[in-house]
Amino acid sequence: MLDLATTKVHDEARQGEQFAPFTNDPNIYGKRFYIESYGCQMNFADSEVVAAILNKEGFGATRNVEEADLIFVNTCSIREKAEQTVRKRLTDFKRLKNEKPGTLIGVLGCMAERLKSKFLEEEKLVDIVVGPDAYRSLPRLVNEASDGQKSVNVLLSREETYADIAPVRLNSNGVSAFVSIMRGCNNMCSFCVVPFTRGRERSRDAASIIGECRDLFEQGYKEVTLLGQNVDSYHYISNDGTEADAVSFASLLEQVARISPELRVRFSTSHPKDITDDVLHTMAAYENICKCIHLPVQSGSTRVLQLMNRTYTREWYMKKVDRIREILPECSITTDIIAGFCTETNEDHQDTLSIMDYSNYVYGYMFYYSERPGTLAQRRYQDDIPLEVKKKRLQEIIEKQNQLSLNDYKKDVGQTYKVLIDGDSKRSSEQWVGRTSQNKVVIFPKQDNATHKKGDYVQVTINDCTQATLFGSIA
Ligand code: SAM
Ligand code: SF4
Repeated sequence: MLDLATTKVHDEARQGEQFAPFTNDPNIYGKRFYIESYGCQMNFADSEVVAAILNKEGFGATRNVEEADLIFVNTCSIREKAEQTVRKRLTDFKRLKNEKPGTLIGVLGCMAERLKSKFLEEEKLVDIVVGPDAYRSLPRLVNEASDGQKSVNVLLSREETYADIAPVRLNSNGVSAFVSIMRGCNNMCSFCVVPFTRGRERSRDAASIIGECRDLFEQGYKEVTLLGQNVDSYHYISNDGTEADAVSFASLLEQVARISPELRVRFSTSHPKDITDDVLHTMAAYENICKCIHLPVQSGSTRVLQLMNRTYTREWYMKKVDRIREILPECSITTDIIAGFCTETNEDHQDTLSIMDYSNYVYGYMFYYSERPGTLAQRRYQDDIPLEVKKKRLQEIIEKQNQLSLNDYKKDVGQTYKVLIDGDSKRSSEQWVGRTSQNKVVIFPKQDNATHKKGDYVQVTINDCTQATLFGSIA
C-alpha cells in the first residue's frame, strides 16, 4: 500500500523506516538484524546494500527490534534536527541493550562519518561505527564487536561504488526501485556537509548499472530511479578505457531507457549547472524517461547563491528553466529551497518567492538553514538570521509552494494521463494509487471485472485534485 510519491529525494514519511524482511525468503537464519534508515534516498539505497552483506553472513532481517541481535541506524547529518532524532533513537536502543546484553548496536552513514569514534569514546552509545564507504568491512566489525572490542571503520574511498553487490530491496512494492549510479560529491556548496561525509564523487561501472536495471525489469519492476547527489556529472571510464570511451549521463540514461519501453526511468538529483541539453534531448526522445526534473534552486538571490557557492546566478537558473520548458513542455520541475541562509535580507527572500513563481515548481523540499560543523559556511559566515525570521520565511515559502502546486494540479483536471499502478490506495483496497510521468500521485477506483494489477499502465482521466493528489477514473 503506497499513497506516496516514492521517488522523492528526502521523503519525510520514510524517515525511520525499518527494513522489512523480504517475502518468500527460503533461508533460515540463526541471527537477526534490524535497520532503521534516515535521510535521503541514497541512504535508503545503502541500507539495501548493507542488508545484502548481512544476509550473506547469515543474518536475516527483522522489523521487531526486540528480537534483533544486531541493531543498525543508517544516519543523516544534513540538518541538526536529523542528528537529534538519531541520538534519541540510539538512546532508546541503548536502554534495550541494557535489558538484553549481547545485542550489538551500530551506527552507519553520514553521522558515523562525521562523528567517527566520538560515538564510542564520548557518547558510549554504540558498539560499531561504519562510514558510507566501509560497508564491506561490516562482517569483520561485527565479529570484533561480538568479541567485546569497539569497532570503527570510517575510511572514505575514491573507488568504492558497491557495483558488484546486488541490493536486497527494502520495503519494495515490487514496482519501483532505486539504483545508485554514483557516490560522493565534489561540489562544495557552502551549507552542505555531504562532501565531508560521503567523500569524493565517483561513478559506478555503467555495465553494472544497466545489468541491475535489466534484472529488476526481468523480476517485474516497472520503474527505476537512478540516484546520485549530482547525476548529471556521471562520467564513467572503465579501467582499460580512454576518455573517448567515457559514458556520460545522457548516454547512460539512453541505455537504461532502451532496456524496454515498459520500464520507466527517473533520476535524481540534477545540479542546475550540470544538466545538459543532451540530457534534455534524450528525455524528449524516450517516452519512458519520465518528464520530471528535480532541480534544486536553494535561493532566488544571486548574492545568496554566490555565498552558497552554487556557481549559478538567478538569471542563469531561469534560463535553464526556459530551456527545459522549450525542449520538454510537459516536464514538471521540483526543487529544494533553504530559507534564512547567512546574511539573507528580506529582498533576497522576495527573490526566492519570485523565482518560485517563475519556475512554477510542482513540488518543493523546503528547509530553514541549519549550520553544520566543518562546512564552508560555518567557517566563513555568521549564522545571523534569527530562528523566528528563518521560520517565518520558510512558512511563506511553504505557502507559496502550496499555492503553486494547487494551481498546477488544477490544470490537470479534464486531462488524461498514463499512470503506472503502484498498488492499493491507503484509504481503500477498492482504489488504486499510481503516478504519472510527472510523478504526480493519482487515486482512482478499480474497475469491476477488470484484470488490472499493480505494475500495469492505465490511462486515467482526472476529475478532481488537492494540492498533492489527483483523483480520476480509468479512461
Ligand atoms: N545534491 C543535492 C543538490 O545539490 O541539490 C541535494 C543534497 S542534500 C541531501 C538535500 C537538500 O538538503 C539540499 O538540496 C538542501 O536544500 C538541503 N540542505 C543541505 N544542507 C542544508 C543545511 N545546512 N541546512 C538546511 N538545508 C540543507
Ligand atoms: Fe551538497 Fe551541493 Fe553536493 Fe548537493 S551538490 S550534495 S547540496 S555539496
